[in-house]
Amino acid sequence: MRFTISAPIETIKPYEAGKPLKELEREFKITHAVKLASNENPFGFSPKVKDVIIENINKMNRYPEPIAHDLSRLLAQRFQVGFHNIVLGNGSDDIIALLAHGFLNPGDEALMPHPAFSMYEISVKTAKGVPVQVPLVDHAMDLEGMVKRVGPRTKLIFITNPFNPTGAAITREQFLAFSQKIPQDVILVVDEAYIEFVRDKAVFNSLDRPLADSRVVTLRTFSKAYGLAGFRIGYGVMDREIAEILNRIRQPFNVNTLASEAALAALQDQAFVDQTIESIHKGIDDLASALTQMGFEPLPTQSNFLMVNIRTDATKVFNDLLRHGVIVRSLKSYGFDTCLRINSGTPEENQIFITALKAVLGKNH
Ligand SMILES: *Cc1c(COP(=O)(O)O)cnc(C)c1O
Repeated sequence: MRFTISAPIETIKPYEAGKPLKELEREFKITHAVKLASNENPFGFSPKVKDVIIENINKMNRYPEPIAHDLSRLLAQRFQVGFHNIVLGNGSDDIIALLAHGFLNPGDEALMPHPAFSMYEISVKTAKGVPVQVPLVDHAMDLEGMVKRVGPRTKLIFITNPFNPTGAAITREQFLAFSQKIPQDVILVVDEAYIEFVRDKAVFNSLDRPLADSRVVTLRTFSKAYGLAGFRIGYGVMDREIAEILNRIRQPFNVNTLASEAALAALQDQAFVDQTIESIHKGIDDLASALTQMGFEPLPTQSNFLMVNIRTDATKVFNDLLRHGVIVRSLKSYGFDTCLRINSGTPEENQIFITALKAVLGKNH
């Protein structure tokens, strides 16, 4: 190409999104495809969300509020923090990028597990930082390994809890032991995109009891348990000084009006979220037992998805499943060549997946 690309950006592999339903339906002329690939909420969202969208639709000729006030206030109240400790984003992806841009000088390092959610690496490289990737051990983050990789240029550390794509999670004690070994000038980003689905009470939740650690930035999203992935809204809870930097560099209208209104309504319908979580737990148990009966060993999960080794080429199975109208995630790009990640759908969707998987894999199952 005739233009010079910034060097770190040349090495970025584009984000691999779960295949959209529309694309599958177009390619295979299928009408009722099932998507279990992006950890979305299969039950939709709270009916209260629909009401506020209709109420606000005629206001969309106006710019959004620069900071969605009511939503920020409700979040602050819920987590017993100040209004100025909340930063809203166009998905939590937005906050990840803001942290990288706000706190990395060229050549500064950000530690992250590997493989992991690819937006950490993409954002760090985009900000001209250097991703330092620490391999998983036994499908879980290697916190000790991360401590060993901390150096004078380390500015950020990304932790995902529960972990995507394996479903593993760390305890509060593990986090505290880890954080004590990290220098005071390193920001600890704790991505809790799936925290609502955690079943084990010992799992670390950075907002349930105040940590009093100004290095910790918690990331949360409305894309998963709340079912608002298409609206694009997430948030971070963080020290006021960090929040000030992110607010300085973010786009002034990064969160659109419908997104903030939807999130505000969703947050006030705890019954819908509780129902979702209960149904997802049942779905995960059903998927795990069906896969176990087929002779596989799905990994234990604290999330709304599970990872399973199907002992054959995952991309081939992924493609064969598409023909049956089912989209899952092949973990080949994560380096798990024979593994799939499947999120729990509705009971019907889970059944369709299991039936399709049996058909694809043949009689032996
Ligand atoms: C889905 C997900 C997010 C949330 O992304 P949004 O931008 O809020 O939709 C963040 N981190 C991880 C690890 C995820 O899997």
